[in-house]
Amino acid sequence: MSLQPETFKSLVKVAAEQVIASAPELTTLDQAIGDGDHGTNMKRGFEAVLGKLDAISAQPFDEALKTIGKTLVMTVGGASGPLYGSFFLAAGEALSHDKHLPDDLAEVFASGVDAVSKRGRSHAGEKTMLDVLVPVLETLKTDAGQPDIVERIRTTAAEAAARTAPMQATKGRASFLGARSVGHVDPGARSSCVLLQAVCASLEG
Ligand code: ADP
Ligand code: MG
Ligand code: MG
Repeated sequence: MSLQPETFKSLVKVAAEQVIASAPELTTLDQAIGDGDHGTNMKRGFEAVLGKLDAISAQPFDEALKTIGKTLVMTVGGASGPLYGSFFLAAGEALSHDKHLPDDLAEVFASGVDAVSKRGRSHAGEKTMLDVLVPVLETLKTDAGQPDIVERIRTTAAEAAARTAPMQATKGRASFLGARSVGHVDPGARSSCVLLQAVCASLEG
């Protein structure tokens, strides 16, 4: 499998459209344990990405990922903007430094996850987007090369997002609620799941 520019373009388009379509759901989740803006934050960011889609898809992959990252940093806002922004910036940076797709997908994804973790001073288990990103990275590492890898990632992301519901948040706004954060899916975990599932759907064609 090699990633063609046209495939990349439709992949970014589908992912952005899915995040935009899920804005009401993300907002409802953030109303429960945050300040209710995650849907509008993400919608604003991915509308900006869609607005640059032609320019982004004309760039080499490393530059394209960095442009997506910069765009998200500038437009999403909140806690999630810099975090998603650093994910894409670091993934692009990894591709600029001798990593290649699709062979090094796990390493490239790991660079993104590390950047989120550093920026957020957070790790899996704190009821954040990392509770989806880290399990998906594990699946990428262990199951790479399996014929049903895309399906495995899809399942991992969905199950991981659902598993944030019983967690108590120790990072981000939801942590202010203490025990009252228990019982709701984390908004950022859900948006990561939406993004990853859209990429999977796009790759499956
Ligand atoms: P804000 O909380 O500033 O309103 P958003 O609502 O857009 O920002 O994003 C909230 C999401 O960001 C959370 O649901 C969580 O997944 C993620 N998040 C917040 N803080 C952190 C952190 N320190 N590390 C990782 N993810 C975080
Ligand atoms: Mg919020
Ligand atoms: Mg906010």
